[in-house]
Amino acid sequence: MRFELYVHIPFCVRKCGYCDFLSAPADPETMEKYVDALVREIRAAGGGTVCTAYLGGGTPSLLTEKQIIRILDELHRQFSFTPDAEITMEANPGTLSWKKLCAMKEAGVTRLSIGLQSVWDWELSLLGRIHTFGDFRQSLSTARTCGFDNISADLMFALPGQTLPLWQETLRIAAGLGLEHISAYGLMIEEGTPFASRHLELPDEELWYAMYESAGEVLSGFGFQPYEISNYAREGRQCRHNIGYWTRVDYLGLGLGAASLWKGERFSNTRNLEKYLTWSACPDTIRENREILSVEDEMSETMFLGLRLRRGVEEEAFFRRFGKTTDDVFGEAVRTHTGFGTLERRNGFLRLTPKGIPVSNAVMSSFLLT
Ligand code: SF4
Repeated sequence: MRFELYVHIPFCVRKCGYCDFLSAPADPETMEKYVDALVREIRAAGGGTVCTAYLGGGTPSLLTEKQIIRILDELHRQFSFTPDAEITMEANPGTLSWKKLCAMKEAGVTRLSIGLQSVWDWELSLLGRIHTFGDFRQSLSTARTCGFDNISADLMFALPGQTLPLWQETLRIAAGLGLEHISAYGLMIEEGTPFASRHLELPDEELWYAMYESAGEVLSGFGFQPYEISNYAREGRQCRHNIGYWTRVDYLGLGLGAASLWKGERFSNTRNLEKYLTWSACPDTIRENREILSVEDEMSETMFLGLRLRRGVEEEAFFRRFGKTTDDVFGEAVRTHTGFGTLERRNGFLRLTPKGIPVSNAVMSSFLLT
């Protein structure tokens, strides 16, 4: 069985104003202890064949070259990787030197996902990012010289004060940088973040959808095709790791708070750093929120994760997996949403229509069985 690996690095230079990810600034000693603990967990959990790995965070590129090499070498020692394995590392401008990028490449990283968010320095400053657009361009150019030929950038829209023309210009500038992949997410105000306690002038719903739609329009003009609600790629450059999440390939999460889907069970590692540092060599001790999935859970997940993909859910694969058709299980939801024009059948796939994408959460929730 082939599976995916996710490795969480929970450190950042400082917290961005909107961020509720499991990440925080830390001193070099804590980061070193964390890498020691992560290596212990990798050794304890190792075994099996990995088709994709994703080092996310946080800011994995905040680690030193030595720490990055140590983690990747340990992963390669403990797991076998398929010859074409995709190994992505998240990185932020401001933490990337030529030496570090070359070390990542040398250690087997095949794909970079760089947090750009905006091409305007005043927006980056408003978001609390540590970098400028110039820093991003410098990192991108350095990454190319180190041999990276598969680079993604994240962008954000629906920012306070952002207009539609400004967002469209952001897209044009980012798309003109020669990237292979772009993710474009609308800003969400999450409880407990500094943004939640500020009064921010946010775009209304109509402008939000106009911004969302313009992402597809502008990016397609530059050769990027949408393949998921928020993701756009050049031909053959879709993120295989994330497609695995949306098609429910098993994945094993390593590191603080990392989630797993493993042999019909979902669980996540402790979010308590002290506990993780102490017990990472005994993975069973740090795994929490264990939930064995029922067949109904799996069918629901297959639908609401698969509908995130623009191609949708493959109906034949659903039947092969569950011995029932999507109509047998979700007939009413399918009829309702095809009637509304938010869902359609095409080439053996059930998928969201352009009308259904902006209301995707409501459509997907109709496929919950439990
Ligand atoms: S860099 Fe990413 S993970 Fe770190 S604080 Fe900012 S948004 Fe959060």
